[in-house]
Amino acid sequence: MRNHEFWVKEDWGLYPPLRGPHKADVVVVGGGLTGMTTALWLCKAGLRVILLEAETLACGATARCAGMLSLTNRMMQEKLEKQRGVETAGAFLRSQMTSFGAIRSLAEEAEDGFDWQDADAGIVAVSRRKDISGEAAALRRAGAAADEDSTIRTPLPGAGAFSLRNMATLHPIKYFRYLTQAATKLGLRIFEHSRVMALETNLAQTRQGIVTAPYIVIATGYPIINVPGWYFIRLQQRRRTLIPLAGAPAFEGMYFDATGRYGLRRWQDGMLLQLDGGVVGTAREDALTQYDRHYASYLGNAQAAGVYEGAETFSADGLPYIGAYSHKTPNVFVATGYGGNGLLGSMTAARLISARVLGLTEDSAYVFSGQRTGNSVLLSECAAAAAIAGQYIGSMTHLFAPRCPHMGCKLTYSRERRLWECPCHGSRFDDIGHLINAPAVEDVLIRRRR
Ligand SMILES: Cc1cc2nc3c(=O)[nH]c(=O)nc-3n(C[C@H](O)[C@H](O)[C@H](O)COP(=O)(O)OP(=O)(O)OC[C@H]3O[C@@H](n4cnc5c(N)ncnc54)[C@H](O)[C@@H]3O)c2cc1C
Repeated sequence: MRNHEFWVKEDWGLYPPLRGPHKADVVVVGGGLTGMTTALWLCKAGLRVILLEAETLACGATARCAGMLSLTNRMMQEKLEKQRGVETAGAFLRSQMTSFGAIRSLAEEAEDGFDWQDADAGIVAVSRRKDISGEAAALRRAGAAADEDSTIRTPLPGAGAFSLRNMATLHPIKYFRYLTQAATKLGLRIFEHSRVMALETNLAQTRQGIVTAPYIVIATGYPIINVPGWYFIRLQQRRRTLIPLAGAPAFEGMYFDATGRYGLRRWQDGMLLQLDGGVVGTAREDALTQYDRHYASYLGNAQAAGVYEGAETFSADGLPYIGAYSHKTPNVFVATGYGGNGLLGSMTAARLISARVLGLTEDSAYVFSGQRTGNSVLLSECAAAAAIAGQYIGSMTHLFAPRCPHMGCKLTYSRERRLWECPCHGSRFDDIGHLINAPAVEDVLIRRRR
């Protein structure tokens, strides 16, 4: 179950692989939430859009998304205020609110409403209550309804919590299907099993076809181009696991650990627990062991009905990178680094990227720019680069391990999970070397020792 998708994708269209030369106004690379939401926004603007997906639609992080829609899923607003100022922190939160409103409007249009449920989001501090007060105050300054309430009862223990009022949970795949249907009605052309192997500023190439387009959107989770952009020294992929729990005790709403270790929501007659599993490729406690040791006793020892593992991108300073890929490539766009808040992140990407393509200005674009500067940004990027360099050196001790086709790091193998993983940039491969997730664009040759 580990590499399988959690949500069932019944009645989906099947799309052909790309063959031969094609032309479009925009080519979107990657068919997850980011690619599809952005494609819909571009189609709404009347553009001719082609979307290329390496495997099948929504097979990446999107297939494991727990469907928790919250302005924030960990403590970051107060830090953002300190590092980039009150104005930027406010602009970030207002942008999150706009994205939230855009998803709610789609839910109101959709027949099934994507199983939308209004819910408060509790942010739980495990050890220091005072951290919570600062974060709640920063969120209130930016306009969010963040209530500190010492009576909040959380399903998992904590020193204190605050509540973000009027958030929501939804069914991510019903949402994704709605995006797909709306976009195809507006003319989106989708090609599956069409991995992009090479990109130029106006061209995307797969094994059997080429799309030329003046604009390119790279929506592959982790970006597949190293230079320009240099995202590989300032992004990390962390393992994130979804565990459905049947027959767990009832509670209302959803909860997040303030440091990002877990998220928990009601689901059917049980709950969905998502756990952070650390940087991809580094040894950590297995998700089920983690659940049994640290969480099960508080959740009525509810049985895990499976374990569904994905990878999520985290930027150096905690905010997504959305916008031009680099100064040199203003017509190539990137959207990544959502830090586990991809429902809102992907909608923000759709709004900002479509505005840029249409030549419109978006007030909050500077907040997310991949070229953002400042001492605090530089410091966090240097720290991220040092950590990644450390992992690179560490990976070299695995003398006989296969090398990742992305940048040559040695892969580590997990016997229980039957996966090869790159500790440097987070590419993952199955037992026989078939690529599971970017930034690599090729399978890896696994030589069996006799
Ligand atoms: C366990 C888990 C739980 C989560 N829960 C939540 C939650 O409750 N709320 C929330 O907001 N967010 C949540 N997230 C985060 C959210 O799911 C992601 O941020 C979001 O799905 C990212 O979408 P994406 O389209 O950017 O990436 P992906 O969904 O990973 O899509 C990228 C796509 O690009 C394709 N691709 C890669 N390389 C190429 C190539 N070379 N050519 C063509 N295509 C390519 C991949 O096959 C993939 O389909 C969760 C994530 C995980 C892993």
